[in-house]
Amino acid sequence: MFPQVLPTYNRTEIAFVRGEGPYLFAEDGKRYLDFGAGIAVNAFGHAHPVLVAALTEQAHKLWHTSNLYRVPGQESLAKRLTEVTFADTCFFTNSGVEACELAWKMARRYQFVSGHPERFRIICFEGAFHGRTMAAIAAGGNVKYLEGFGPKVEGFDSIAPGDLKAVEAAIGPETAAVLIEPIQGEGGVRVMTPDYMRGLRKLCDEHGILLILDEVQTGVGRTGKLFAHEWAGITPDIMPIAKAIGGGFPVGALLATAEAAKGMTAGTHGSTYGGNPLAMAVANAALALVLEPQFIPLVAAIANYLQQQLGQLLADHPTVFEEVRGQGLLLGLKLKVPNTEFVTAARHEGLLVVGAGDNVVRLLPPLIINETHVREAVTKLAAAATSFEPKAKTDAA
Ligand SMILES: *Cc1c(COP(=O)(O)O)cnc(C)c1O
Repeated sequence: MFPQVLPTYNRTEIAFVRGEGPYLFAEDGKRYLDFGAGIAVNAFGHAHPVLVAALTEQAHKLWHTSNLYRVPGQESLAKRLTEVTFADTCFFTNSGVEACELAWKMARRYQFVSGHPERFRIICFEGAFHGRTMAAIAAGGNVKYLEGFGPKVEGFDSIAPGDLKAVEAAIGPETAAVLIEPIQGEGGVRVMTPDYMRGLRKLCDEHGILLILDEVQTGVGRTGKLFAHEWAGITPDIMPIAKAIGGGFPVGALLATAEAAKGMTAGTHGSTYGGNPLAMAVANAALALVLEPQFIPLVAAIANYLQQQLGQLLADHPTVFEEVRGQGLLLGLKLKVPNTEFVTAARHEGLLVVGAGDNVVRLLPPLIINETHVREAVTKLAAAATSFEPKAKTDAA
């Protein structure tokens, strides 16, 4: 019989029934330390009391009204997001890819209303990931994700990241925008340097094109800043976010300057669910947590500690690990053994981590972890690594 749930995922035979802070509990009662956080989503761990209260309180009042009416939760979240970022305006979505889709529409529309209807192409990068819609797989450029789905959506020009000359060469009379993740998450935790990010900003300004930073994975505190572009001291024109902003409730947002958004008038875009009262209640509470004065400094401090510990782990297991990459709590271990096997070995030790491109294992813990959780994770990573190392001669005898 064909699987009743469409078999598009390579799932692990495990189901969780409960979560608490950075821990998940499986059906059989086994406890796991969750250093995947639902792919950088559960930034506040599982069942955070503040988020649970925000959701249940709203659930008793009102779930959904549609965007035919004002949604006060959207107004308060947009007010807060625009106060603490470059942005002047926000649109709320249900997912990361929907925020990305609007980013591309907005960039094209900006050029259209600026007298450049010919500018519709978007420069994007090899190894990128922006989601799984038709346009997103064109923007990501991963041939595995494009195969069999017909002609690639027109207007996405993929080049290698890291080389400003290549970007300049790719800018043509039809270019509308440059689209990049400050750190490629799915692509293998590949960090763009601050110099490169500043160079992109400068090129965009010189050529009258928009800079779109996809911070769906890097945003909302993950890298030790509220947004990863702050490390380079630049701001984008347009920025899709999602994942951590809902702490596990499906919600995304598109942030933009008033200038970049000037073409998006009534009727140009919409969503039935986007920014509904439930999503807004949780996202407002989540943002308030991140904006507590001590929150992000604590993320930076615990990230430092984790990175130090991983340095030692690497030194202790040179045949398993090649390098540590990333920033803040978006970290990657580049492996010398197959990453899928390592993910399994770590899970057998009771630690959840996530694979990525380039034979990398991602560590994406909840942002609320402490030193005890770090030590527990590193002990489990060491145990997983040992399972790949040749046994000492005395054992074999
Ligand atoms: C996860 C991700 C997306 C897609 O988000 P969905 O919520 O899965 O649609 C887009 N861009 C980046 C950088 C991501 O990490």
